[in-house]
Amino acid sequence: MTSFATHRLRVHDRARPPHRRLSALRTCLTQFAPYGLRATYHHLCASARVPADLGQDPEALVRAVEELHAAREVWTAEFARWRERRTAQKHAGVRVPDPAEPPRRLWCPDIGFHPTRPLPEVMERVLRAGRGPGCPVCGEGPGTTEWHDGWSVHRLCARCGVSLGARDAEPPDPGLSGTHEERWKAVWRREARGA
Ligand SMILES: [Zn+2]
Repeated sequence: MTSFATHRLRVHDRARPPHRRLSALRTCLTQFAPYGLRATYHHLCASARVPADLGQDPEALVRAVEELHAAREVWTAEFARWRERRTAQKHAGVRVPDPAEPPRRLWCPDIGFHPTRPLPEVMERVLRAGRGPGCPVCGEGPGTTEWHDGWSVHRLCARCGVSLGARDAEPPDPGLSGTHEERWKAVWRREARGA
């Protein structure tokens, strides 16, 4: 059984204390997190309504891990199809995979700014999007906006927050980076949900 599957079962295990079940959810996120660990966690806490006090609704963690699992299943099915084709290509001596391996991850560096639709739906869209310019979720329409993390300036999709590139910040701003870290701690404790 994969690590993801093992820890998914632990999230479901009502005999475990809620904080251990949360820890298992975090481990699942280290295995699969379409927006990066932090933004995906932020998304799941909002969509599954995970309370700050886990004891009030520990089953919210199950809702969260099941949304993540469903998105992972979408990707796994696509990857299995790709791998089958790729095996045939290797036997035929094709060195460079065509098409490329399906993407499993976007990157939403601004934790609170990410696609809001259910993760499986977004994953379907990303896998169908191909690799053209523009946002893999929204296409080219929405344009971009910039976001500074303290060390880099990210070019984000203006609608959904997916990073489309980054450049070094000149000059860097370590204080801003510290502010973002504080915000992540609050998000982790489910005390801050807004952007
Ligand atoms: Zn977008």
